[in-house]
Amino acid sequence: MKSADIIVVGAGAAGLTAAIYAASSGSRVLVLERTDKAGKKILMSGGTRCNVLPVVMSLSDYHTDSSPNLLRRIFKSWSVAACKDWFQHDLGLPLACEADTNKWFPVSNQARDVRDVLVNKLISTGAQILYNKHVTALKKDEQTQNWFISTEDGLKYSTHAVIWASGGLSVPTIGTDGSGHRVLKETGISITPTYPALTPLTGPHPGTDNLAGISLNVKLTAAANASSREGFLFTHKGFSGPAVLDASHHVTRYVQQENTTASQKPELSVNWSGDSEQVWITRFATGKGTVRSVIRDYLPNRLTDALLSDEPIADKRAAECSRTDRTRLIQKLTRFTLPWTGHEGYRKAEVTGGGVPLESIDTATMAHKQDPSLFLCGEIIDVFGRIGGFNFYWAWVSGRLAGLSAGRLSR
Ligand SMILES: Cc1cc2nc3c(=O)[nH]c(=O)nc-3n(C[C@H](O)[C@H](O)[C@H](O)COP(=O)(O)OP(=O)(O)OC[C@H]3O[C@@H](n4cnc5c(N)ncnc54)[C@H](O)[C@@H]3O)c2cc1C
Repeated sequence: MKSADIIVVGAGAAGLTAAIYAASSGSRVLVLERTDKAGKKILMSGGTRCNVLPVVMSLSDYHTDSSPNLLRRIFKSWSVAACKDWFQHDLGLPLACEADTNKWFPVSNQARDVRDVLVNKLISTGAQILYNKHVTALKKDEQTQNWFISTEDGLKYSTHAVIWASGGLSVPTIGTDGSGHRVLKETGISITPTYPALTPLTGPHPGTDNLAGISLNVKLTAAANASSREGFLFTHKGFSGPAVLDASHHVTRYVQQENTTASQKPELSVNWSGDSEQVWITRFATGKGTVRSVIRDYLPNRLTDALLSDEPIADKRAAECSRTDRTRLIQKLTRFTLPWTGHEGYRKAEVTGGGVPLESIDTATMAHKQDPSLFLCGEIIDVFGRIGGFNFYWAWVSGRLAGLSAGRLSR
């Protein structure tokens, strides 16, 4: 049986960071990774550019059913600026800020470089990664206080401390299918129901044509929260882009609970150009051309035609519209109810909502309250952020804190 002071389960963003910090204490660290590669999600992230961090963050960029105060305490352990310095100076990865989106990317625009600096740093600390090690069981021997970990290939490992970083259920084909959740549950750890988040929605497009490929910046309102202007994309099956992805958990949670609770169907309301009703009233009142030509000045032609497909006044002079017609049109332009019918699930989700509640974690150490030698970090916990580097920031922060704490425990 192989043994180590600390065993990290999962070599994703959180697990790699945790292992680096755990090894910095001088502990013998072993990482068990289910697949044949570390950081597969890092490699596919940000359209293979990897949005490493946001420029600024606030708690409102995150979702959890746990107390936001607990989340605040964990984020206090490492600021965005300090985390950025770690990447640039300790790991040697130059970052560049994309000013219009407030996101940090590697200067090389290569997600592979992010993954490689983490793995290289890990190896340089003397830690070891074993690949194709699917962890299927976790047990504690109460007499020796040792943890025993079993892998699918029939091998066993023993350790004093475990860092659990098996991720969520999104993109199950690359190793994150919830097997980590199952093992934890069998160990007696409570996990709140999970749901796909940051996933595209399905539904018909306005008008009669399929608008796939059209992208624009919209303001989207969900659960009374209006977004700032964000990307919206018509896909073959429905809708995507940051504005839709950020709101998608309202839909996925509703669909999941539909048969069990009387919760109201979430309404996603789209303002196509982001302009106010008053702005459109002025545009129509002063517009020289037809309704269609006035709208086409602000929206893509194909979308304009789709929105006007059942409009009898589409080719009338804008300035001559009656108040009733104008009000109806402006409602379509500023408060269009997105006709979603479903979502694309974990297969396309960037992250997972739900998981281990923060209430069951000591926020000073990331240890589970049930056992001070079991640490958790990353997507397995009931926390996710919106699009913009917020999810990796959570993985780096929680991974670092778990690694430092496990290192202190095993010294
Ligand atoms: C397409 C896509 C693009 C994204 N882009 C961004 C972005 O640009 N910026 C951003 O902030 N976030 C992005 N995200 C989200 C981000 O990738 C995740 O938040 C982050 O990877 C979570 O890190 P983690 O270490 O907790 O989990 P993961 O990165 O999923 O790592 C978990 C690891 O554990 C392993 N594992 C699972 N079960 C077991 C087991 N039983 N035994 C052993 N090993 C196991 C898995 O194989 C995996 O390697 C993106 C996600 C996707 C899917």
